[in-house]
Amino acid sequence: MAFQLPDLPYSQDALEPHISANTLSFHYGKHHNAYVTNLNNLTKDSPLADKSLEDVIAETAGDPARAGIFNNAAQVWNHTFYWNSMSPNGGGRPSGDLAARIDADLGGFDKFAESFKTAAATQFGSGWAWLVLNGGKLEVVKTGNADTPIAHGMTPLLTIDVWEHAYYLDYQNRRPDYIATFLEHLVNWDFAAANLAAAG
Ligand code: MN
Repeated sequence: MAFQLPDLPYSQDALEPHISANTLSFHYGKHHNAYVTNLNNLTKDSPLADKSLEDVIAETAGDPARAGIFNNAAQVWNHTFYWNSMSPNGGGRPSGDLAARIDADLGGFDKFAESFKTAAATQFGSGWAWLVLNGGKLEVVKTGNADTPIAHGMTPLLTIDVWEHAYYLDYQNRRPDYIATFLEHLVNWDFAAANLAAAG
């Protein structure tokens, strides 16, 4: 069974005016789709073709000979997670257990927002910023290029893609504006709370 491009959890114009349908048509329809196609080509007729995406990532992480497979598999996973990290009715603040954990581990929502913005803005070149569960505590981390927290024993709760292809059509070089908009209008706290609950 070949790896599949999952459906977007909303229509391509659902995040407007914050992220345009034009951006999503390229980002989802071209970039995410290309990672799926590349992964299928690279794993064709190999034992990896029948494994889960997560198992492919775990098996190829840190193996220079299989960096191409890792990069495409991780990008497939990261992008699916990113689409779910946003919602047309997103933004605002988390509640319940997630809010309490942010208070306890990260010093409150405002400090979380500041460190998330800093991580996303200072990821040099391409990559991702994340809210993760690491060793039982919430942390904000960033990863370069295709790298993903699931290759490092962390449980992602939320991510923002800071590759230029994620924002350049709408924000050009203004990455901080894209990050601020993500937190104010798009972030899907229900998704993050569900990931936290599933992690136990
Ligand atoms: Mn991307």
